[in-house]
This record gives sequence, C-alpha cells and structure tokens, in this order.
Amino acid sequence: MPHCMQCNAMMRRDEEVCYACNARVPDHNPKKTMAQHFSTVLTIMIVIVGLITIGSMFTDVFPSFTKCVAILCVLVLVKKSADTMSEFRKDL
Ligand SMILES: [Zn+2]
Repeated sequence: MPHCMQCNAMMRRDEEVCYACNARVPDHNPKKTMAQHFSTVLTIMIVIVGLITIGSMFTDVFPSFTKCVAILCVLVLVKKSADTMSEFRKDL
C-alpha cells in the first residue's frame, strides 16, 4: 500500500494527489511526455546527422558539409525548444 510522502497517509495505488494534504505523489514509472519522446528522437537524429557531417568532410558519398551543418543547427534549435517546452510543462 503506498503512503503519502508528506503526511504518511494511506493512499490508493491509482491516486495521484493525497486526499489528506493535497501533495502530489511522485510517479513511480513516469510516462514520457510527447515532448520528451520528441526530444529523444531529435537526440538520435542529431547524433546521426553529426556522424554524417563528420563523414561528409572525408568522402563525397554524403551530402555536402555545409548542408549537414545547416541540418544539424536546425535539429539542435528544435531540440532546445522541445526541451524548454517539456521543462515548462514539468513546472505546471
Ligand atoms: Zn499527504
């Protein structure tokens, strides 16, 4: 049986807010928000594009270095705003 972290009151497993003191229960297995998923995908993309960028310096197989850097910049910017969004939601 879970207990409230603040006042130690008994709680139901599905309760998110303590009925006694209104404290929010810390989520044991927090679900990832859409923004966090998006951020993970972007991180993977940044790594891949980063590798292609490095590769483009040495071979002609990949798109041009400038193009890769431009895509990389866009991805980093999008990721930053996605991170800001998810942090903003956490504060609510
Ligand atoms: Zn409580």
